[in-house]
Amino acid sequence: MKCLLCKENEADETGSHILTHSLISNCINEQGKKGRNKEMMFGISQSGERKLFVGNQVLPDKIVEIKGRELSDQEVENNDNDLVVDNIYCKDCERLFGRIESEFSRKILGKIRRDKIYDFTNPDNILIRLYFYIQVWRASSFKYTEWSLPNCIEEPLREIILEGCTNYDIGISAELEDKIIKIPIIINYLDTPDEKSSSNLIFIPNETLPYLLFLCDFVVEFFTVQGVMPSLHSISNYNGLNDNLSEQFINLNENRFKLRCISDSNREKIINSFSLNEIGLIDLDRIKKSFVFEYLKSKKTFPTLNQFLRFMFEFSKWDKLPLLEQMSEQRISNLIKKIIKE
Ligand SMILES: [Zn+2]
Repeated sequence: MKCLLCKENEADETGSHILTHSLISNCINEQGKKGRNKEMMFGISQSGERKLFVGNQVLPDKIVEIKGRELSDQEVENNDNDLVVDNIYCKDCERLFGRIESEFSRKILGKIRRDKIYDFTNPDNILIRLYFYIQVWRASSFKYTEWSLPNCIEEPLREIILEGCTNYDIGISAELEDKIIKIPIIINYLDTPDEKSSSNLIFIPNETLPYLLFLCDFVVEFFTVQGVMPSLHSISNYNGLNDNLSEQFINLNENRFKLRCISDSNREKIINSFSLNEIGLIDLDRIKKSFVFEYLKSKKTFPTLNQFLRFMFEFSKWDKLPLLEQMSEQRISNLIKKIIKE
């Protein structure tokens, strides 16, 4: 197979990350400390929609439902996940991505996360844009969980990335720079305390106006009509993400690139709304089933109605836990064990 970026070389690179590791490792490592091998990234499908989602300790039956098969020992052993893939890009193109990714990590990422700087001038705006274009395009080109941009957008984006990355060190042409800044884009930064980083999401909702990518503490809003400032009322307000959005954060033909910082309390509102709307109902059914399944496995008999109600009662005692934690596999698994022991 030919490399998806240059379309010339054989796609000989293995272990390519669809999303840059330094970007998403925040979400992953927090839980990883407790047991990396139990963590998987997966897409959940629901009424034809396909999505990206990070889960912790995904139940085996969920994996079968998602992947259509159980994970092989090797997948579990290698901590393999769906965002690391082989043979879709060539080694040269992987180096091109790497150049932009490391430059972004070195020059920009720390300024945002550590120094709370959200305003950048040229040429940093080009670096920021190329970096996020790479994330969007790679997810699209790989067609992860069948999500992708329309070809009429994916292809020009590929050309921008290929030329932009190739010429980044020697300086990109004014003509290309014009193309790069003609795409309206919002980069939201979710101001997240360290101890809460694992509650962020890696997720691509089924939205198009604009396209959205939740990448841990960053949320990209990507518009497809080039050169035109989208009107505020036409922009979807996905789970309250765009409450109080103002035009200054829609970067288009900019001199200064502005990131939009979302406070921790607003971040929690968005994540809680997401949890409730997107996974709450699906999971409740699964949680009930997994209780019965685990009980049966351990005791060789079905739980009594009383035990079932005890479990549901314990489960709904979530006090002030954030929603994703209430639903976390860790919490559910502990509850199940507790009831089985009684
Ligand atoms: Zn290539």
